[in-house]
Formats: sequence, structure tokens, C-alpha cells
Amino acid sequence: MIGGGPNGLAAAIKIARAGRRVCLYEGNATVGGGSRSAELTLPGFIHDVCSAVHPLAAGSPFFSQLPLQKHGLDFIYPPSALAHPFDDGTALIVDRSLDVTAERLGRDGASYRRVFSPLVGNWKALAGDVLGPIGMPRHPFAMARFGLSAIRSAKSFAEAKFQEEKTRTLFAGLAAHSFLSLDQAATTAFGLMLGILAHTVGWPVTRGGSQTLADALAAHLKELGGEIFTNHRVESLAELPTARAILCDVTPRQLLALAGDSLTPSFRRRLERYRYGPAAFKMDWALNAPVPWKAVECQTAATVHLGGSFAEILESEWNASHGRQSEKPFILLAQPSLFDPTRAPSGKHTLWAYCHVPNGSTVDMSDAIERQIERFAPGFRDCIIGRSVMTPAHLERHNPNLIGGDINGGLQDLAQMFLRPTPSLYSTSKDGLYLCSSSTPPGGGVHGLCGFHAARVALRKNLR
Ligand SMILES: Cc1cc2nc3c(=O)[nH]c(=O)nc-3n(C[C@H](O)[C@H](O)[C@H](O)COP(=O)(O)OP(=O)(O)OC[C@H]3O[C@@H](n4cnc5c(N)ncnc54)[C@H](O)[C@@H]3O)c2cc1C
Repeated sequence: MIGGGPNGLAAAIKIARAGRRVCLYEGNATVGGGSRSAELTLPGFIHDVCSAVHPLAAGSPFFSQLPLQKHGLDFIYPPSALAHPFDDGTALIVDRSLDVTAERLGRDGASYRRVFSPLVGNWKALAGDVLGPIGMPRHPFAMARFGLSAIRSAKSFAEAKFQEEKTRTLFAGLAAHSFLSLDQAATTAFGLMLGILAHTVGWPVTRGGSQTLADALAAHLKELGGEIFTNHRVESLAELPTARAILCDVTPRQLLALAGDSLTPSFRRRLERYRYGPAAFKMDWALNAPVPWKAVECQTAATVHLGGSFAEILESEWNASHGRQSEKPFILLAQPSLFDPTRAPSGKHTLWAYCHVPNGSTVDMSDAIERQIERFAPGFRDCIIGRSVMTPAHLERHNPNLIGGDINGGLQDLAQMFLRPTPSLYSTSKDGLYLCSSSTPPGGGVHGLCGFHAARVALRKNLR
């Protein structure tokens, strides 16, 4: 295994559970990739360096089979999944209960129920099809219902289904996790998926930080006999011991550098054509008080979306996809210490946020991000006692998989959603060499399913 992110660890575990010997090489000092924590601001303040909120991990059909609680993983479920405040001092709150949420949406309540109720009811059956590589769905009717809506742009879907500006804005915030312009096909898929997870799994944080998830995976791998070598950045396949299969938790650009000579010219060309998406500009703060939200109910959720109106979020996401910066960027924010006292000294808090910017952007967005938070929480800046800023370049230095600051392992538009990074998915043109990162289906997020599916292919083809 090259790379110890959630997918690398998941692939290694799947192979070790089949009784094969696994060695995992991680370039950084600790495993975890996008699931790490560190004291980024002040001593005693534990920040999530990348991922912070874990609906995908908690809902992962693979992680839920593993004894991760035994190794220290503890998901904390805040009372609400998500808060979305507005300029008038109100907020929409997504509750775990679909009915409670629908009741809060006024004349959109019935439509919200019609959209989500069948999907939430069928989620257990749907999850395998939605979160797996493309193929013959095991539940074609449920999948068809999901697919017919999912394929639409979030803009047209929200306009068609919801009459209230605030409901449209809420849905746009969910769909904006796609890192795509919301007038693009299939952006509805992201909004639906995250909405379904809010009503089925919840949007938890991990006690002690996201590193505990990676550490639990690593502990389970070791328990299965797997070996982990950290501080070992692999520069070429030639430096690895002989193995029947090599799985790479890297993106296509890195695979070209690692193994380019051993790949066929046509496969290399396909990898070269793979496209990366917009980047994240990430900030963390140490605070001497909780964020003073105008809408106090925002304190019931770990995740808060900041985008004042439907048009504002559409513009922000269009800008990031078209090489422009936004004055009022859409912000994804997490406040884990409200629910997990281990994150900060008593009475103090941690805060995590990022906005979307063009790939490789060098523009400093820290003032724009803080202005957006201040807009919905006047007095926020007075609470700051420490600050960390991670530009796209900084993110890539921290983890070479974050090409130009792209946190999804490549653009996840319709063309690269199912057949990523090539129609061969996990396989490459070299026998026994596989990709298992978020550049393969089902794509970005901490769920380990790219690793799980890649390992299944490797076990079938090379590790019988
Ligand atoms: C700022 C930010 C916020 C995010 N927020 C969330 C969130 O809240 N919820 C969520 O579910 N997801 C979130 N994500 C996305 C999530 O972190 C990723 O999708 C996920 O970590 C991808 O897992 P992976 O295993 O494919 O790759 P990664 O997690 O990127 O891991 C790849 C690993 O491989 C190592 N590596 C690479 N090349 C080599 C080499 N040559 N030799 C040795 N080691 C190598 C890297 O050091 C790294 O540890 C976020 C990501 C970022 C950056």
C-alpha cells in the first residue's frame, strides 16, 4: 500500500482480513491523510487539519463492519445535523428527524417530505448502489428514483421543488459540497446524498478529533498483522519490496510520477487528461468563547453553512469553478468543541472553516471568511485568540494528494463521477497495480469505500 489515508487504510484492512500480508508506506509522520488532527493554533487546542464532520464515515457500509470503537473511535452526534443562518437573524435547522425538519420549512415542508421520504426510507438498500462503482444496480427502482433527481443541476432542482428562498438556499448549501458550479448536471446528487445522511445517520464529529478515526483504522490493521511504515514517501515503485499487488492511495498525477514508465502510453494519456477541481482555502481558530451566533439555534449543530441567499451561493460556486474569487464566499464551518470538550481547554473553543476557490489560487481569503462569520455572528472577531490559515498550496504541501488544493482527488462532475479516473476504475494498464484513492469511485469524503472496492478487485485478480 502506498499512502495511509482513509482509503489506503481501508484497502489494507480489507486485504489483511483476507489473510494476506500487507505493508503500508505513508509519507507523513502520522497516518490519516485527510483524517488528521493537530494543535494548529495554540497548545491544548486540537484542530482537524482536513475533514471534521463524518456523515460518510458513520454511514460507511465498510467502516461499520470494523471494530473501530474498540480502538478508540467515538462518534458524537450533536442535537442537529446542520444549521444555516440568514441575515434576518433566523436559521434553518436540519434535524435528524425528517418530519421535524419538514415542519420548519413552511409551505416547502410537503415538497421536502416528498423529495426525501422515499430516499430516506430506502437508504439501506440504496447505499450499496450509490456508494459503489457503476454497474447493474441491485435495487433498480430505488436507484432510478434517486438517479432521475440526482442527475439534475441543484439550481434547477431547488427552483422546481421549493418555493421559499430559504429552503432553496439550504439545498444549495448541501449541494455546494460538490465543489461544482450549481448549474452543472448532477450537482443535485450531492445535495440529496448529504440530506439523506442527515436523516439516516446524522452528521457526527469524532471525540478527540478526526485523527482518532485514522488511528483506530491503523490499530485494527496492525491487529490483523499489517505493518505500517511512516515517514516513508515512495518516489518510485522500484523501491518497494516484491509484491503480488500494489495499491496506491494517490491521484493520477502522482501515479504518473511513481509508475509512468511501466504504464502503456494510452493509459498514461488517459491519466494525463484527468481533471482536478476547485480548491479549499481553510482556516482554524482558537476562541475564548463559543461563536456568538445571531440565531442562537446554530449552537445545536456541529456544521454551519454560511451563504446569505440562493443567488449568493450560486455565484460563489460559479466563481470558484470559473477562476474567480468571491467577496462573499460560501463557507462550510464546523464547531466541534461545542460537543466535544476534549478539543480545547475548559471554556475555550476550536473552530474550523473553509471556502471554495479556484484550483491553485494564491489569493488570501482569510478576511473574506472572517467577514462572513462576523456577518452572522457579530462579535466573532473579538473571540479569536489564535488563528491558522491553509492556502491551497499549503494544503498540497501537507498532503500531495491535494493537487492545487483540490480536496476530492479530482473534479467530480458528471464525466468524472462514475468513470474515475479512467473507465478501468481501480485497475491500471500494469497487472497488479491499482489506484484506491478518492480519484476512484465513489470519490471524495472519509468513507474508505474507494479502498474497499479497489481491494476487492485486487483480491479477485492477483491475491487469490
Ligand atoms: C480541508 C479539508 C476538509 C475536508 N472535510 C471533510 C469532511 O468534513 N468530511 C469528509 O468526509 N471529508 C472531508 N474532506 C475530504 C477527505 O479528507 C478526503 O476525501 C479523504 O481523506 C480522501 O481519502 P484518501 O485516502 O483517498 O486520500 P488522503 O486522505 O488524501 O490520503 C492520502 C495519503 O497518502 C499519502 N501519500 C501520498 N503520496 C504518497 C507517497 N508517494 N508515498 C507515501 N505516502 C503517500 C499522503 O501523505 C496521505 O496521507 C476534507 C478534506 C480537506 C482537505
